[in-house]
Amino acid sequence: VALPDKPYLSAPGSSTAAGLYIGGSWRPAADGGVREIVNPYDASVLTVVSEATAADAAAAVAAARAAFDGGPWRAVPADERGAVLHRVADLLARDRAEIALMESLDTGKTLEEGGIDVDDVVAVFRYYAGLADKDAGRIVSAPEGVFSRVVYEPVGVCAMITPWNYPLLQLSWKVAPAIAAGDTMVVKPSEVTPVTTLKLVELVEEAGIPAGVVNLVLGSGATVGSALTEDPGVDLVSFTGGLDTGTRIMAAAAPTVKKVALELGGKNPNIVFDDVDLDTAVDYALSAAFFHSGQVCSAGARLIVHEDVHDAFTAELARRADAIVIGHPQGEGVRCGPLVSAEHRAKVEAAVARGTEEGARIIAGGRRPDDPELSRGYFYRPTVFVDCHRAMDIVQREVFGPVVTVERFRTEAEAVALGNDTDYGLSGGVWTADAARGERVAAALRHGTVWINDFGPYFPGAEWGGFGRSGVGRELGPAGLDEYREAKHIYRNL
Ligand code: NAD
Repeated sequence: VALPDKPYLSAPGSSTAAGLYIGGSWRPAADGGVREIVNPYDASVLTVVSEATAADAAAAVAAARAAFDGGPWRAVPADERGAVLHRVADLLARDRAEIALMESLDTGKTLEEGGIDVDDVVAVFRYYAGLADKDAGRIVSAPEGVFSRVVYEPVGVCAMITPWNYPLLQLSWKVAPAIAAGDTMVVKPSEVTPVTTLKLVELVEEAGIPAGVVNLVLGSGATVGSALTEDPGVDLVSFTGGLDTGTRIMAAAAPTVKKVALELGGKNPNIVFDDVDLDTAVDYALSAAFFHSGQVCSAGARLIVHEDVHDAFTAELARRADAIVIGHPQGEGVRCGPLVSAEHRAKVEAAVARGTEEGARIIAGGRRPDDPELSRGYFYRPTVFVDCHRAMDIVQREVFGPVVTVERFRTEAEAVALGNDTDYGLSGGVWTADAARGERVAAALRHGTVWINDFGPYFPGAEWGGFGRSGVGRELGPAGLDEYREAKHIYRNL
């Protein structure tokens, strides 16, 4: 299975590529640099793309700045920006199969998961298409003789820096509201998985968005990412990725007082009471922990299970984890593909080794698969740890792989205390047949999303983001649009 032919994707072995999109035209990097993109299924080279320099990042910011300050974009009415977003959504839906394949080849997620991502991205574009012209501001109560109103204006030039786990999806949460708000932008995907970001830019161009509104640079965080966060021409940095990178970006944005929106990691509790149907709870716990091989910021990586059902629950969890079909991401019936890279798998393996050293016990996985067919790729078996304690690294640190820990609790208060015993605060789940208890626990958990008797679903209309060190600001929903606009109070003496 190969990637489709595209002008911005060069064949393996190529020494040239034209995959930067600046001011409405495709071009190579200033120094002609390229990067090989690897297929995580078998470590082969999937494609060759451009590798930007800091000068390319500056050129992209300048193009976005010019399009914002003087271009036609500012005069485009909100309903027309909404119509543009609908056109992009139509094009994404048209190319669903192609995009799902691109995402699957690039990230190692299954084709089915790639298709789900495209459907979610279409929904996000449609949501912000609808919202674009719904809320232009409001009249404010003022004394006699004064007319006061608040209007919303675009923030300006936005830099968008995204991770490798949901390349297209995470980007859509930024690009769609920014277009709705009337901003211009420079996007920089993860250097590990740039393919569907290139595809999105192709569709944005086809949808007829004016030159300079959406610009794309590819390359490393250290060179291209940091050039964007330091550039005085950028008004807002919206970042999704790891906690360490997030703290660096916040510091880099400080000298020029850029607005910063951060979506960082999570170590998300999934609390199971003793009154639930165990069969269902185990099923959901498995997909919460192992969907996309656990490389999900909101993965249910930390199970907290009532003492009375702990043994039955974990035995069944281990049995079903061992039965998960691991294999070719483009194959039929496969549930778990490879991890994204050799480097990332090494991190997961180090975390598992540390967990064992700390005294946690593995009851499923804990190793690579035996199948020789999979030996070239970055596969790792779904792994379950029991005998875990709240103070262990394996319980507190995000692994971002197919690894789940199980702790026990006795009382509701203990379950809540464990659920909140994290520096993060992205998401959490509670399983109980007692509706009032479910509501009490949901109210007590300090996390941006709480699921009662489910784990994972989200809607474009509901805000997404973190308490604590899981981030700053919100994506999706009306607040996800507000991140990309400034409120201005206009006061008039009559
Ligand atoms: P990462 O932080 O290593 O990289 C993310 C992006 O930041 C990449 O594009 C990278 O090139 C760039 N970058 C790296 N250093 C930079 C710097 N100094 N300046 C500017 N940019 C820089 O994260 P990752 O490994 O790609 O993704 C995994 C992480 O993302 C996990 O921690 C996960 O929890 C988090 N994540 C969070 C959410 C959420 O919604 N909260 C969603 C997906 C992933």
